[in-house]
Amino acid sequence: MEPFLLQKEQNGCGLLYIKGWLEKDSGLTAGFTSRLGGVSEHPFGSLNCGLHVQDVPGHVVNNRQLLAEALHAQLNDCTYAEQVHGNEVEVITKEHAGAGIHSREEAIQSKDAFITNQTGIFLHALFADCVPLYFYDPIHRAIGLAHAGWKGTVLQIAKATINAMQSEYGTHPEKMLAAIGPSIQGCCYEVDEVVLTRVREVMAELEIDNEAAGKYCSIYEYLGNYKYKLSLQQLNRQIMIKAGIMPQHIEISSLCTSCRTDLFFSHRKEGGKTGRMAAWIGLYE
Ligand SMILES: [Zn+2]
Repeated sequence: MEPFLLQKEQNGCGLLYIKGWLEKDSGLTAGFTSRLGGVSEHPFGSLNCGLHVQDVPGHVVNNRQLLAEALHAQLNDCTYAEQVHGNEVEVITKEHAGAGIHSREEAIQSKDAFITNQTGIFLHALFADCVPLYFYDPIHRAIGLAHAGWKGTVLQIAKATINAMQSEYGTHPEKMLAAIGPSIQGCCYEVDEVVLTRVREVMAELEIDNEAAGKYCSIYEYLGNYKYKLSLQQLNRQIMIKAGIMPQHIEISSLCTSCRTDLFFSHRKEGGKTGRMAAWIGLYE
């Protein structure tokens, strides 16, 4: 069953919640924005949350405010970052509150993963096809969020985030939950030999089998002409399993951002001129 469920908020914005997690812990909020219900205009229509895509900055801040309002959070308690397709993890505390909400200069710089065990702070990362990874340790009540495009995926940002939660909060990977959010899926994600070489290197290093997820769910498939279909979702899932997360504790969205431009922004499908969705996770005070 699809773990990310779309809900239309009272203020009009459309948000997808990781329903199963919120049922387990009512003090947790985690999900992904759709493109619905914001104030931005074409090609950012309409809930664009990214300041770096030539949208009107005031519209973006307005959209981020709508999101915060729907989450019953203050925009000043949110954090946004300048992501660089790396694998560095920032430990977030109350001191980061409000980072990057109004400007890129004040954002957390050069980080793609965020962890915290503090309440009242809401981590955000931005996406338009790349893969959002969510982590939740119910024992130590710690959370994490990572941005994994193909580069972050092969740099094993999933493992880096899990390791950081282990060392900072004493998280046991076998007790934690993970979710892989809406993103471009194998149906639409074609890559070349350069990308696939890096994928094969990681798979060899971690001893991941291409058919690890089952016969009809391979990580990559050859299309001919030096092109491949790649499932970043399945690769991230295997990296999580190798880092100690139990397979049954990992939920994967089946929503493809490129197939569903009615719901999502897609960098590939829309030729780079589009908005960004926000993934968020936070613990209420
Ligand atoms: Zn697709």
